[in-house]
Parts: sequence; C-alpha cells; structure tokens
Amino acid sequence: MSVLVLGSANLDLVYDVDRIPAPGETVLARGFASFPGGKGNNQAIAAARCGADVRFVVALGRDASGDRLAEEARRAGIDLRDRRCDAPTGTAVIYVDRGAENSIVVDSGANALLTDLTAAERDDIADADVLVLQLETPLDTVAEAVRTARAGATRVVLNAAPSADLPPGLLGDADVLVVNEHEAAALAGLPAGADERSLLAVLTDRGAAAIITLGAAGALVGVPGAAPVLVPGHRVEAVDTTGAGDTFVGALAAALDRSGDRTPASLVDAAAFATAAAAIAVRRKGAVPSIPTLEEVLDFRG
Ligand code: ATP
Repeated sequence: MSVLVLGSANLDLVYDVDRIPAPGETVLARGFASFPGGKGNNQAIAAARCGADVRFVVALGRDASGDRLAEEARRAGIDLRDRRCDAPTGTAVIYVDRGAENSIVVDSGANALLTDLTAAERDDIADADVLVLQLETPLDTVAEAVRTARAGATRVVLNAAPSADLPPGLLGDADVLVVNEHEAAALAGLPAGADERSLLAVLTDRGAAAIITLGAAGALVGVPGAAPVLVPGHRVEAVDTTGAGDTFVGALAAALDRSGDRTPASLVDAAAFATAAAAIAVRRKGAVPSIPTLEEVLDFRG
C-alpha cells in the first residue's frame, strides 16, 4: 500500500505588516517567518502524518530553499523523489496585515519545470495504490500522470485546485475529484453560489466520483448513479483554516490507501476520516504545523 503525490512545493515567506503597501510605498514589517508550503508538499505531509507510506515527486531548485523543503519532507517520513532544476525553488511572498487581510505573490519557479515524466517517475506512479495530483504543476504533466495511472491499477485522486481550464477528459479519467465550492462552480460552468447538489450532479456526470468540501459544513460525496451523501463537519473553534483543504486531500488519500476498498461506502468512510483530520487542522495555526497525526485523528473521532 502506498500513496504517490505528484505536485508543487513552495517556501512561503510571510511578512506581518501594519498595512499592505500601496504601489510605490515601502513599509517595515513587524515580523517575518518562512514555512514549507505548496499544495503537493502539504498533501504529501498530510498523507504521511495520517499513516500512509508516501512518495513525493516534486521539482525543486538547486538552492537553500530546495534543500530546506527536501529536508523537512524527509523528516516527515516522505520518500522524496525530487528533481533539482535550473530555476529557483517556488516561493510565495505573503503580506498579512493587522486585520488578517493578505496579499500574495507566487513564483512557481521550479514547479513549472515538472514536465515530461521520467521512466522512474512513471514506474513510481504504476507502483502506487493511490496517486494524488493538484493543479499547481503543468497541466500536461498532470494529464500524463493520470494516463500512466489508468494504464495500471493506480487509483487517482485529483484535487482540481487552483481553478484552471482542464484538458478534455481529464475529469472523467480521475477516480475521485476533490474541489471546494468555488472550484466546483468553475468546473461545472455554473455561477458561484450555485446549489452544491446541482454542482455535484454536473461533476459526477463526467464519470468520476466527486467530493465538494464545504468548509465548516463538511463535505458532499457523490458517486455516479448514486444519491449524494453529506459528511457533516465537526464543530470546532476555527483558529486558522489555512491548509484545511490540503489536509483533507492528504488524509483522504491515506484513508483510501489503507482500506484498499473501492466501494462508494469506503469513499464516504474516507471522507469522514478526512473531515475529522481537517477539523483538527483548523483549530491550530499554520498550514503544515497544523496537520494532525493518525493517532490524533483516531482520538478525535473517539
Ligand atoms: P483552504 O483553502 O482554507 O485550505 P478549501 O477552501 O480548499 O480550504 P474548505 O472546504 O474550506 O476547503 O475546507 C476543507 C475541509 O476542512 C472541509 O471539508 C472541512 O472538513 C474542514 N473545515 C474547514 N473549515 C472548517 C471549520 N470552520 N470547522 C470545521 N471544519 C472545517
């Protein structure tokens, strides 16, 4: 049993400021800290903390940020399959003002160079039980990874985030699509705020199971041809929701990998596990630091 995550890693550079600078303005920061981030990295760490045996295919620069991300991923128990590229490691520069409003600039850097899978990377995909993908790496690579998984028995969890125009057929080729409400509306071609059951019906019509995460309300799980199931959210005091979606996806992959079962009921069980993991994450600050371990999730569920 194993999970292969193919995706992005960034170093998040977070500046606390009194106010976000206007064009031409310089402000002094009140504080600064840097954290590992990127959807691929966060989801790989979440799957590993939730008990899965995880490999992570990622493109990093030959720089100190790349070394740090690699070291932290290995410390989380991840079997890292990193490519080192002639581009800087991806970064996100984040200003957070006193009202918790933020302003973010992302440089994809090396993540944009994760193209043309190598034979070893394709073998890793074929060997895995569950493949986890997001859309912060080139879409052609995502499509190639899905095709490689489909040629064997690897199950594909596609987190279609951030929103992007997907190549035709990609959605139907995934086994499980995971999106939040905004991404679901964009993919379904319906207005933001459309009823979530209508969104789910459009998404499952493409042939794959789909999960729409609903923030504090939990997650709606749909399997083609069956009635949707609402997995209710847990009532917790939300301190910081950053990384809740990534925790959900990584925990879901770990639960699917552990059960090895492909029935609709096992997808609902895995979504319930992921909803508990994500609820723990929102009670704590930060993205990676807030991701719980398997023991914590089992304790929380009682
Ligand atoms: P983010 O971008 O903040 O990481 P997202 O928009 O991708 O998140 P959400 O639907 O907001 O995804 O959250 C993912 C999951 O996290 C939800 O399905 C739910 O299980 C859990 N969650 C999020 N917010 C809360 C909350 N306030 N209370 C309890 N659980 C929450």
